[in-house]
Amino acid sequence: MDLQFLGTGAGMPSKLRNTTSIVLNLSSEERGYWMFDCGEATQHQMLHTTLKPRKVTKMFITHLHGDHLFGIPGFIGSRSFLGGDSPLDIYGPIGIEEWIHTTLRLTKTHLTYPLRIHEIEEGVVFEDDEYIITTRELSHVIPCFGYRIVQKPLPGKLLIDKATEAGVPKGPLLQQLKNGNDVTLEDGTIVTSASVIGEPKPGFIVTILGDTSVCEASVELSQNADLVVHEATFNEETGQLAKDFGHSTIQQAAEIVKTSNAKALVATHISSRFLPSDIDAFKKEGQEIFSNVFVASDFAQYSLHNGEVIESNFKK
Ligand SMILES: [Zn+2]
Ligand SMILES: [Zn+2]
Repeated sequence: MDLQFLGTGAGMPSKLRNTTSIVLNLSSEERGYWMFDCGEATQHQMLHTTLKPRKVTKMFITHLHGDHLFGIPGFIGSRSFLGGDSPLDIYGPIGIEEWIHTTLRLTKTHLTYPLRIHEIEEGVVFEDDEYIITTRELSHVIPCFGYRIVQKPLPGKLLIDKATEAGVPKGPLLQQLKNGNDVTLEDGTIVTSASVIGEPKPGFIVTILGDTSVCEASVELSQNADLVVHEATFNEETGQLAKDFGHSTIQQAAEIVKTSNAKALVATHISSRFLPSDIDAFKKEGQEIFSNVFVASDFAQYSLHNGEVIESNFKK
């Protein structure tokens, strides 16, 4: 799992930060990419990377502010033009369906793939054998949602040595044990699956929150997460603006992650008032509350290795 930031700005694009878009890259899990928000020019940002639009299979929108979704029409049109034929599921607040369909209709944009739009409420928005995604409504000036992505425990590996020791011959019985079934050997011995399968490995928990001021829902969604993406539009000095516009400061973001017993904070949605030379001090403000703080920049990538977050850059 890699978390890749295509845009990390707030409100409007600046030369250094495009508007919000994050890709949860599940290529190594063979699940393609899941995109969170799609600010204007997200597709332009993608051109500077090896990411392919057709590999985006799901898009989760936090709220209907332009800096989080003005990139959708261009993106979904290009995905079609570039030969995408697999379905695309878009999840977002009430109103997203009308907005997308109106835009597609008036611009006569025809897609070559099925587009499925899901207007969400609090609770489970997606679940299959491997993942479960839940949402809660945050506290912003319009309805805004945060997403908690939980990878279910990965099944333990078949311990070949143990199976051989128990007398299981090579062949189909091994597969049955691997599938969780107990087997009976020719001599009548029963070998249980549990006795030859290793411990299941816990999956990851990643929380991606939208624009928000401090709220209880953020803490719930972030509980014990390996990584929390929280907005930090402002800092202590500009804290009044955070209050006035339904945003957070870097300290508040750090406080949420600390309270949630999560392992790392990646701060994003950074106001363009903070220049690159300000970012060290900005980050320190967060670190005074919680040690494991990263401040994302466009094209920053975060990967989990044995529970540790590794920061790198994925611009090509
Ligand atoms: Zn925003
Ligand atoms: Zn907003």
